[in-house]
Amino acid sequence: MTVARARVLSDTWPAASDHAAFAAALDAEYAEADELTLLEATIHQVFPGQVALTSSFGAEAAVLLHLVAGIDPATPVIFLDTGKLFGETLRYRDTLVDRLGLRDVRSITPDPQRVEDLDADGVLWYGNPDMCCYIRKVEPLDRALTGFAATITGRKGFHGGARSGLPRVEAADDGRFKINPLAQWQKADVDAYFDAHDLPRHPLEADGFLSIGCMPCTDRVAPGEEVRAGRWRGRQKTECGIHLPKGRWQPFDSGI
Ligand code: SF4
Repeated sequence: MTVARARVLSDTWPAASDHAAFAAALDAEYAEADELTLLEATIHQVFPGQVALTSSFGAEAAVLLHLVAGIDPATPVIFLDTGKLFGETLRYRDTLVDRLGLRDVRSITPDPQRVEDLDADGVLWYGNPDMCCYIRKVEPLDRALTGFAATITGRKGFHGGARSGLPRVEAADDGRFKINPLAQWQKADVDAYFDAHDLPRHPLEADGFLSIGCMPCTDRVAPGEEVRAGRWRGRQKTECGIHLPKGRWQPFDSGI
């Protein structure tokens, strides 16, 4: 299967049976390419006008944002502002927007009615973190990605858990494609890129926060722990859910 160039997928997304094959073909075609080449192809050739970058503006986010900004600073960037983030993250977002010249950062908030109905006292994160992530991240992202055929993510295999062995191109079960240009990067690659481009660090990183999400669910990471060990510490949960199969959320489905 040859990957189509300048393909407009909005009307012609591959049927489910072709979806995985298209992702595998794209993955194979760019297997030897560097991340910049894969991103160039993703943004300008394969999914023109139909790809968004999802970013947490967390500890490693500046790398992918810098790469994408160098190709097209008008690429849409989806940032999920859950209402539970660290103030440092919001200020870091603003710093990077200015520094990188990002022109289309969309800060997406949860549906206030869903929050009122399900988390009026604001402690759902403690009693039911899956539901909390669902209304604050999964639902809003689903809405924000309407019309997009693909997302670019900053996930990396070295983060461990479900991210180990992550491919560079995935067929997501919502019919979209996920492009993971940094899937094979190591921590040393990230650090070297920050240094080479003199990128500002997230202000909490120096305080031991190596993976940064919502304030109630993010802890410092001790030396020797995995990068994401501080996320939902003490719980079985390891992912917020935006990268889990959509079917995982059927018990919470609001019909979006
Ligand atoms: S990370 Fe925690 S606070 Fe943030 S949406 Fe998920 S459960 Fe809620």
